[in-house]
Amino acid sequence: MNLDRFAYGLRDPQSIPMIGECAHCHAGIFKGYEVIRYEGELFCDTHCLGEYLLEVVDYEEVIL
Ligand SMILES: [Zn+2]
Repeated sequence: MNLDRFAYGLRDPQSIPMIGECAHCHAGIFKGYEVIRYEGELFCDTHCLGEYLLEVVDYEEVIL
């Protein structure tokens, strides 16, 4: 039985090197994917960057 044709077109996620993890949600960040880098930290997307900044940046909620 020849299984060679099954070797094409399947991209095994396990074979993509993991470079790091999102500094906010800790999801894996993989080589070749478009991500956000901010001050040396990696984030999945701008949503995770925004959530991260809300946690680490000093700000105050005020009523005007
Ligand atoms: Zn994330």
